[in-house]
Amino acid sequence: MDVDIAVVGRGMIGGAAGRHLAERGHTVALIGPGDEYSSHGDAGRITRIVGRTEIWTELAANSIERYADIAERSGIDFHVPCGFLAAYLDAAEWADRARAFGSDARVVDREWVRQGTGIDVANGLGLVYEGAPGGYIQPRRLVAAQSRLAEVAGASVVNADVASLRATSAGFEVGGSFGIIVARRVLLATGAFACDLTGIRLAVERRPRTVVMAEWDGFGDGRTVPSFVCDQPPDDRVEEIYWNPPIEYPDGVVRMKIGGNLKGFVPLQQAELVDWFHTDGNPVEAECLTNNLRTLLPDADFGPMSTKPCVITGTATGYPYIGWVDDGLAVARGGNGSSAKSSDELGRIAAGLFSEAGWDSPIDQSVFAPVPV
Ligand SMILES: Cc1cc2nc3c(=O)[nH]c(=O)nc-3n(C[C@H](O)[C@H](O)[C@H](O)COP(=O)(O)OP(=O)(O)OC[C@H]3O[C@@H](n4cnc5c(N)ncnc54)[C@H](O)[C@@H]3O)c2cc1C
Repeated sequence: MDVDIAVVGRGMIGGAAGRHLAERGHTVALIGPGDEYSSHGDAGRITRIVGRTEIWTELAANSIERYADIAERSGIDFHVPCGFLAAYLDAAEWADRARAFGSDARVVDREWVRQGTGIDVANGLGLVYEGAPGGYIQPRRLVAAQSRLAEVAGASVVNADVASLRATSAGFEVGGSFGIIVARRVLLATGAFACDLTGIRLAVERRPRTVVMAEWDGFGDGRTVPSFVCDQPPDDRVEEIYWNPPIEYPDGVVRMKIGGNLKGFVPLQQAELVDWFHTDGNPVEAECLTNNLRTLLPDADFGPMSTKPCVITGTATGYPYIGWVDDGLAVARGGNGSSAKSSDELGRIAAGLFSEAGWDSPIDQSVFAPVPV
């Protein structure tokens, strides 16, 4: 196969980039396996316009605007706008920023939250609620929708790992169990599991995270649990927590998922990733997340709980790296634990790198500049 652009990594950002590139008329191979070692192999990811910075807010708003079109044209639904709550000291500022991008975010009080959602935030944090489109997306389904639309636009979707990448005078030879794909240019969108396909090393930290899954299908009395992020949670061995509301998993069980940022965590080396994924996560983190879940939702009668390891990819800038790292070789990676909701916009910006016009975002290119080690 001979293509203009090979996108390596068919996750949330690579899937989006592949679609945008194909829909812009490029010849594209979108190459990557399923979701075993990815950050999107899950049933829910929070989505919301409300963000901690103006840049995250703008990226999310631009992505969310296209959700309905992606779902309609692919025939794959992935967005559940069940609402979103943030508990942060500066939450009112988050709301002001988000309203400028079309959100209905508003400051609410503890009693309103307790009555409508069952969540009790006791420590005087600011509370901001966003109705639709706030809620969650189903990441596997979004990736499937992007792959389907990329294929409709003429991309070749290859369900396999890339094992080798070799620069040649004409571009690149991309190798794997599929044979060799010859590509003029390459976009690496390989997330946390980027194997060392090139000698180019970027300042990327792989942060181990543990999630707790609690079987529970909601109150059933009119109170609706929204997606949630909270700074300084009651058990403050984690500095921040998030959860997805009850969602049905592929095994038919409805679960809530809670995760957070454990203070003093030790980043993982690439070689440690697979072993980490064969553990049940960090028991201290799991205990602390469980305490937070029970304290913040005091009336919920949770069933069995289980834990899972996962990893997020942090960059030196706090924003994803999108840019050229060598002749004909670009990257789009480093989701910083926040990119699922914004993946379509990040993929669109990455696709812009390959256009005649170049950078295609009102956000300055320097924000996304890859930082070498
Ligand atoms: C537990 C958890 C909870 C999160 N919660 C949220 C949330 O609530 N809201 C939110 O917006 N974001 C959230 N995130 C972050 C979000 O999921 C990531 O930012 C997003 O998935 C990053 O997309 P990506 O394409 O960079 O990586 P991924 O989605 O991981 O995709 C990378 C892909 O590259 C593939 N790949 C790697 N190496 C190769 C290779 N050699 N050949 C071919 N393919 C390769 C992998 O298999 C994978 O499919 C969360 C992340 C985690 C881990």
